Amino acid sequence: MSTDTDFDLITIGAGSGGVAGSRRAASYGARVAIFEESRVGGTCVIRGCVPKKLLMYGAQFRDAFEDSAGYGWAAGAVPAFDWPTLLARKDAEIDRLNKIYITMLANSGVTLVQERARLVDAHTIAAGGRTYRAKTVLIATGGRPSPLPIPGIDLAMTSDDLLAMPALPKRLLVIGGGYIAVEFASICRGFGAEVEIVIRGQHILNGFDDDIRIALEAELKRRGILINTGVQPVGLERAGAGLRLTARDGRVFEGDKVLCATGRHPNSAGLWLEAAGVAVDKQGAIRVGKGSLTSVPGIYAVGDVTNRVNLTPVAINEGRALAETLYNNNPTEVNYANIPTAVFTNPAIGTVGLTEQQARDQGFVVDIYRTGFRPMKYTLSGREERVMIKLLVDRATDRVLGCHMLGNDGPEIVQGLAIALNCGATKRQFDATIGLHPSAAEEFVTLRDKVAVSP
Ligand code: NDP
Repeated sequence: MSTDTDFDLITIGAGSGGVAGSRRAASYGARVAIFEESRVGGTCVIRGCVPKKLLMYGAQFRDAFEDSAGYGWAAGAVPAFDWPTLLARKDAEIDRLNKIYITMLANSGVTLVQERARLVDAHTIAAGGRTYRAKTVLIATGGRPSPLPIPGIDLAMTSDDLLAMPALPKRLLVIGGGYIAVEFASICRGFGAEVEIVIRGQHILNGFDDDIRIALEAELKRRGILINTGVQPVGLERAGAGLRLTARDGRVFEGDKVLCATGRHPNSAGLWLEAAGVAVDKQGAIRVGKGSLTSVPGIYAVGDVTNRVNLTPVAINEGRALAETLYNNNPTEVNYANIPTAVFTNPAIGTVGLTEQQARDQGFVVDIYRTGFRPMKYTLSGREERVMIKLLVDRATDRVLGCHMLGNDGPEIVQGLAIALNCGATKRQFDATIGLHPSAAEEFVTLRDKVAVSP
């Protein structure tokens, strides 16, 4: 091995958190190198948020075609859909974004090394037959799908595979009821596949507000997605041209393809963390404390590899906070309160703040405001789909604790509400805000009747 290229900061992993932290550090004059074994852009850009959302845009055209007749457009068959065309266009867009990321790194003065890197010690990494030294190391290696440990699971697709599958299956079986499971189920249903979901619990989207979960289930079912509960998968095998999943209770479920979306694991294996003494938890997530510092001085970790809040904007904030602290003399902590999030199903969920259950668990006496209605757009088209809006208010202080919406405008609306919640907005302030008419959003400022109160 030859040595020694010296940097102020070496980042391992060029995804959302690594790129953001590296560029911000370089903008303050730090000499930065970033190592990436795969494509620059990480999960979000290459195999997550971005391609997923492009596919969802594509899937939603079915609704537009169907709804148009009610608005006077000549009723006709829904145009034929060609999956390979969309896939190629999606891939071209991801290529474009990948190049932009590479250019952004270069323009920021960050040295990109396209190699797999591993730690040698707290200030040295090895990659491509060389060692590199830096005062500080940032690990931002993200996560990867973690398929169920059952026989035959290799026959199933992960979300990575689904984003590259050459043909749309006629029948898709989805294992899991989290973000990825329901988003991909919804996408494939939009393109016309028969979709069946199996979950081990009673409802999809554990951790979301119960009313919203149940309302989304009803909408997914209305669109023809079957949801099977209490299913503990024990094995997957070939069955003719398709696949058969067997559950512990003997039930069987079949599909031409199976998507296993049962969570993700931190990408920490093979980094030789133990060589430097970096501590990980049972799931392999790098343990971090204040300021994203690991158990080793000089080594930091951000994003999904730390398994804190596994969302792109959180990783970006963690990376930038670190750069502000280390290279701009501006100690910065990430504000983990009121992180908005969306589930890009059709219809979508937008949510920020506490769920009803969380509010109760935290000892709040909550006033609950909830409304459901058919969006104006669907009055003429005749589509039977309902929006749900729910607000949770702390009775003692009148502070709004949580905002939840099921409806395709939800994600766009909730981003603004997150600002209000971070400012400590009260229900009275929501009520004193004039609505924007006609919109679904105005319902958030016109909720008058409490539907229930906590005991
Ligand atoms: P999630 O943790 O959201 O969901 C995992 C699902 O798999 C749950 O339904 C869970 O069931 C089920 N599951 C886990 N283990 C088993 C098991 N042994 N047997 C049966 N079922 C099991 O993971 P995802 O993979 O969907 O997403 C990973 C993360 O990525 C998300 O948590 C989120 O942070 C991020 N993400 C965000 C998106 C967004 O912002 N729109 C989109 C996609 C991902 P149970 O509920 O019973 O635990």
